[in-house]
Amino acid sequence: MSYNVAIDGPAGAGKSTIAKAVAKKMNLIYVDTGAMYRAMAFFMIREKISPNDAEAISKKCREADISIGHENGEQVVYLNGENVNPYLRTEEVGNMASVISQQPAVREKLVELQQALAAKSDCIMDGRDIGTCVLPGAQAKIYLTAGSAVRAKRRYDELTAKGQTCDLKKIQSDIEERDYRDMHREHSPLRQAEDAVLVDSSDMTIDEVINKIISICEEAK
Ligand code: C5P
Repeated sequence: MSYNVAIDGPAGAGKSTIAKAVAKKMNLIYVDTGAMYRAMAFFMIREKISPNDAEAISKKCREADISIGHENGEQVVYLNGENVNPYLRTEEVGNMASVISQQPAVREKLVELQQALAAKSDCIMDGRDIGTCVLPGAQAKIYLTAGSAVRAKRRYDELTAKGQTCDLKKIQSDIEERDYRDMHREHSPLRQAEDAVLVDSSDMTIDEVINKIISICEEAK
């Protein structure tokens, strides 16, 4: 049986940074499920599907073949055979991902892919519903969170470091809106699994969070 770690939490809590580092130290494959929803969102934007048209989203998602691979330790997401990594990390795609991820047809498709990946490899998977829906039997579950102002500032720093201009207030309001949608949607809302360990990273350094999570994972082995 493979060894699986589930990390869930709201946008900007540091899940991907932490999960990548833990994966390296514990020799696990890192699976970023948000990137799969982002690839689907990118597909919808490119196909000019309106975020308000639930029926069109459900129909159109059948035409998107999403798969993942790894190159130099980095996850690469393929959309109908094309590497779409360069297009996924914008606020536009993130917000669209949060809208289209409400659709059961989209979720079913991506959850199936995620479960197949976890069944065949020891992995650390991050997202919103990993501990509750995708991998309910994961050996270790973490719910990683931080205050919304802290998360907005982290996202702002990340985007400015990449040379993108952005507005801190707008990022915080987008994050709060996204949290609300993710936590209140009908299908697989973001919530802490009963058996997940809560880690609030607001006042912790990256290294402190990594060490904390490694100790939780080691205990669960
Ligand atoms: O984590 P990231 O910001 O890349 O995720 C983008 C969006 O994809 C989230 O806001 C959420 O709505 C959706 N998502 C999801 N379930 C997951 C991962 C992401 O619904 N397991």
